[in-house]
Amino acid sequence: MFDSLQDRLGSVFDKLKRRGALSEADVTAALREVRVALLEADVALPVVKDFIEKVKIDAVGQDVLKSVTPGQMVVKIVNDHLSEMLGADHVALNLQVTPPAVIMMVGLQGSGKTTSTAKISKRLNEKERKKVLMASLDVRRPAAQEQLAVLGAQIGVRTLNVVPGEQPVAIAKRAVQTGALEGFDVVMLDTAGRLAIDEELMAEVVSVRDATKPAETLLVADAMTGQDAVNVADTFNQKIGLSGIVMTRMDGDARGGAALSMRAVTGCPIKLIGVGEKLEELEDFHPSRVASRILG
Ligand code: GDP
Repeated sequence: MFDSLQDRLGSVFDKLKRRGALSEADVTAALREVRVALLEADVALPVVKDFIEKVKIDAVGQDVLKSVTPGQMVVKIVNDHLSEMLGADHVALNLQVTPPAVIMMVGLQGSGKTTSTAKISKRLNEKERKKVLMASLDVRRPAAQEQLAVLGAQIGVRTLNVVPGEQPVAIAKRAVQTGALEGFDVVMLDTAGRLAIDEELMAEVVSVRDATKPAETLLVADAMTGQDAVNVADTFNQKIGLSGIVMTRMDGDARGGAALSMRAVTGCPIKLIGVGEKLEELEDFHPSRVASRILG
């Protein structure tokens, strides 16, 4: 992840750091390379423009160019803005509500939604000693409810029993009722995905949201899908409001731009990342670590 960005920016900044005196033209030339590197890493164009603009304003400031180590200062300014764009600190899941806390998982089919539902449940159950109930609201894909039940059995987390013919909102309500009656701390709702965003999918998710008042609404997005993932995040955020993003397939060779753009476009923190198919392959997202990794 981020390898190509790191290679590209790393060499730009190595050059800059070594320079004693810098002119405005030097900074402009370096930022041009930064711009190309970000675009090549799939960062959305408006996000790149905004970023370069902010860095430029700070970096050509008189004090910076006249300082003893202007190159290093410019590198620091870029790093600071990159961290800011990615979000300052890791943002944890917020489950501080009257139990059961509902976590609604949304996203397109194939994004890793069901896997992430199980990964988060496993972590809450094992590391935070939470009593978790999972429910699949996907009544269109016949194997979906079964898939979640199989994962539940693997991680020792209960799944809501399936009532044939029951519709998503009714399943969601029953999950929350069961959660409240039986003392569960967290209810995970794995909503149905589609191959593309459509009105029906959005209306269904909105109904589930209104019926269950989730503490967290997490979009699951595949890091490998780059720009598409950014558009998906923007739409979901506008239509239903997101509290966070789970980026999956961060173990692949995704160029990392999607993470930057998603945060910038939606304003939602990336809370967790999926780094493999196994159910323990889930990590917290640390913006500053990613920023310094990008810069090398
Ligand atoms: P859903 O349709 O959104 O529920 O997607 P699934 O959870 O069924 O996942 C689709 C495929 O992606 C499965 O083969 C998962 O094992 C795989 N997958 C999910 N998350 C990750 C991840 O973080 N890394 C990798 N390499 N594969 C993942």
